[in-house]
Amino acid sequence: MEEINFKSLKISGLKINYYYICHRKLWFFDKGITAENTSERVKIGRLLTNQSYQSYKKREILIDETINLDIVSKEEVIEIKLSNRLEEAQKMQLLYYLYYLKKLGINKKGILVYPKLKKREEIELKPEDEKEIENALVRIDEITKLKSPPPLERKPFCTKCSYYELCFSGEV
Ligand code: SF4
Repeated sequence: MEEINFKSLKISGLKINYYYICHRKLWFFDKGITAENTSERVKIGRLLTNQSYQSYKKREILIDETINLDIVSKEEVIEIKLSNRLEEAQKMQLLYYLYYLKKLGINKKGILVYPKLKKREEIELKPEDEKEIENALVRIDEITKLKSPPPLERKPFCTKCSYYELCFSGEV
């Protein structure tokens, strides 16, 4: 694959996360369509982040006005999550942060932390992850440029999605 134009494709970590969950969700979010329980989950997530790893001073770091890192230490980026229900998407989000920092000449490893589950996982950015992220950035650009949302495909976690009503309100 040719080298991508990262400057024109870079996006927030949440969009990467949503890309790995549901392309339709990504499209709604990109268009600024929000649902009621989204803000509530964001509040709970922020509270959990504030209560975790309190000895770390660099918290909620906004880089380039694009990505928002929960906690940054000398060698690590620490991402705090409420649950591991959508772990793969969470891993890709953190890998994207590592990729983004690498583009800025900063090399760190990632730590995915689930305080409620007492679980933590170390994440390292490998060349194949970089390729995967670059493919995702190109696809996300294509999806968000669509005039209408990608077709509805029911997923096991749809009932927990903040866009459930929007997607399924017409169903009997
Ligand atoms: S309800 Fe399901 S199909 Fe609709 S946006 Fe959410 S995950 Fe995607």
